[in-house]
Amino acid sequence: PFDVLVVGGGPAGAAAAIYAARKGIRTGLVAERFGGQVQETMGIENFISVPYTEGPKLVASLEQHVKEYGVEMITNQRVADITAFSSTNSDQAGLQVSLVSGATLKSRSVILATGARWRELNVPGEQEYRNKGVAYCPHCDGPFYKGKRVAVVGGGNSGIEAAIDLAGIVEHVTVLEFGDSLRADEVLQRKARSLANIDIITNAQTTEVLGDGQKVSGIHYIDRVSGELQHLSLAGIFVQIGLVPNTEFLQGSAVELTRFGEVIIDAKGATSTPGVFAAGDATTVPYKQIVIAMGAGATAALSAFDHLIRN
Ligand code: FAD
Repeated sequence: PFDVLVVGGGPAGAAAAIYAARKGIRTGLVAERFGGQVQETMGIENFISVPYTEGPKLVASLEQHVKEYGVEMITNQRVADITAFSSTNSDQAGLQVSLVSGATLKSRSVILATGARWRELNVPGEQEYRNKGVAYCPHCDGPFYKGKRVAVVGGGNSGIEAAIDLAGIVEHVTVLEFGDSLRADEVLQRKARSLANIDIITNAQTTEVLGDGQKVSGIHYIDRVSGELQHLSLAGIFVQIGLVPNTEFLQGSAVELTRFGEVIIDAKGATSTPGVFAAGDATTVPYKQIVIAMGAGATAALSAFDHLIRN
């Protein structure tokens, strides 16, 4: 069996695998797609010490770094389940990770780093203009819209936080909320309403992302009260309707999740199941960013090593 089996090949999983392998223990990494969300990212300007890079370039460096340590990489494989197994010989006790393909992998400890995905609008134009005006991360892409007009779709906490954050950078922000009222905390709503360059429109159903063939030029929404189609001219659209953790396969397992599906971890990256650690966007970590996911991956690997030397 492996000493440490990392599930997920994004920044959290890559960092965890490197930290584990550097302890000289048998380390495996199983991932559906190495690189995770970073593979889909265009410009990255907040990866500290690297003023500018691009997703595929960072992924290639991550892969090269992981491969320097003899990590056994199993890619294009999706994990279906994780269970504890024990045998009469206590040395053999550990965890079993089942793959959708039917194969099983055994390990003395597991690090879950399956990341998350942004909930999409599912309207025409969204895919076409992804990274060309359609954005999901204000911390990442906000500065690209300096002095421009943008919309934030979604009036929950993340949408209103994004609007307040963007209002300090861009010329103007329009918040489009589907419901008849915002769902964000009152204190955030008050702050947003106090800013002169934020407009809030409720009962707005986004129907189409418009562009000029190269980049976003505007948005169409239906006013759900009047039924009329409305148009806004914009350079950017930040979709803030939820980040969904890739943890469906853990539903019903012994690993405790929040009601949003996030893996509950403590400060050491430990989950509710002994020997199972977790890191990155799939967890309860408060901010979802590359540097944060990498730090969390390192934490989880050091905690897994600590668990191994004590058991
Ligand atoms: P992920 O990167 O999501 O990786 C998850 C890994 O798990 C993948 O390898 C996936 O294939 C695998 N996986 C999932 N489910 C399974 C399964 N069942 N079995 C096997 N493998 C599985 N952050 C920044 O800091 N700066 C930026 O500029 C930035 N820009 C972004 C732009 C976009 C478009 C997006 C989508 C995100 C951006 N982010 C940015 C956020 C950043 O990408 C994430 O915070 C980071 O990738 C999270 O790392 P992770 O390792 O936790 O998960």
